Amino acid sequence: MEIVKSILTNNPCYKAGKKIAVRGLMIHSVGCPQPSAEGFVKKWNNADYKRACVHAFIDGNTGKVIQTLPWDYRGWHCGGSGNNTHIGVEMCEPACLKYTGGATFTCSDKETAMSIVNRTYHTAVELFAFLCREFGLNPLADGIIVSHKEGHDKGIASGHGDPDHLWKQLDTGYTMDTFRMAIKEAMEKLPGDTPVKEAPVSAAENHTGAENQQIQGDKPEKSVSPKGVELVAKYEGCKLEAYKCPAGVWTIGYGHTANVKEGDTLSSAEEARKLLAEDLKKYAGYVNDFVRQGIISFPLNQNQFDALTSFTYNCGKGNLQKLVSGRDAATVAAKIPAYNKGGGKVLEGLVKRREEERALFLS
Ligand SMILES: [Zn+2]
Repeated sequence: MEIVKSILTNNPCYKAGKKIAVRGLMIHSVGCPQPSAEGFVKKWNNADYKRACVHAFIDGNTGKVIQTLPWDYRGWHCGGSGNNTHIGVEMCEPACLKYTGGATFTCSDKETAMSIVNRTYHTAVELFAFLCREFGLNPLADGIIVSHKEGHDKGIASGHGDPDHLWKQLDTGYTMDTFRMAIKEAMEKLPGDTPVKEAPVSAAENHTGAENQQIQGDKPEKSVSPKGVELVAKYEGCKLEAYKCPAGVWTIGYGHTANVKEGDTLSSAEEARKLLAEDLKKYAGYVNDFVRQGIISFPLNQNQFDALTSFTYNCGKGNLQKLVSGRDAATVAAKIPAYNKGGGKVLEGLVKRREEERALFLS
């Protein structure tokens, strides 16, 4: 899969600059007989084009992905609340279609149409597998991967039939269910040791607010042990007076940020340790979630659980998923040290931290 960036910097939607916490991905098809993405990109990259903006097009002739918005920008692709939660991607459609009203069309060259639709389908699978891993999404969970049509059925999108109408009328055998399954399979084949691309600074992760979902489960779940809290504390550094972190957020203790304001103080390192233990619950919850969902496929002992919680607190949920997906315990241990970069550079503190996490994981 090749991703070519061609960001629609003139489009009012890009200019609005609104960000979303990505909760899902929506697949569209353009609904007109145009296999090339180029014309759409040109037309939409315009200050007067107020109708729509998507995150990417998939070109029907080349199978390339043309990325048109940063993935976490709010797009205008589905005419509903799905714009606030879902990335939107448009597949281009064969030139030999003739729309005869609504989502109904005739096709004058079935063979060409099939080759184009196959191409865009397969690229969409690869792109969505990549994005699922990037944003820690489970492609089989309800409402995560949806078509525009399914979005409408769920009340988060306007009344369109794409791309289900295309796959169905051409008798491709593709459905949203085959699509989701193919994404899941593609995720298992993704190269696993992509190093951290952006600074895995815990502060940044802690302040996104993007992952504050409630964690719940009905199986007995592990919580982080005092040893795990110690490990995180060792690398986070403790301040008893509130300070502004580099991202401008008031912080106290071991990187605690909830309800902190200027002038706040803590009485002791022990008090700070308690706040940290509280904060770690969220990250321990991600580890428990992945166990429950089978994304972590081997049983965890307490040391492994503590090591992965420390890792997640520092590197985030998405990187935890990359680390564990489709791997056995030995491979996970071997890959932990790869996550040692911040801002593209290997950082000594992260090298040490990863080494200690790996050692704990193996003990
Ligand atoms: Zn659509």
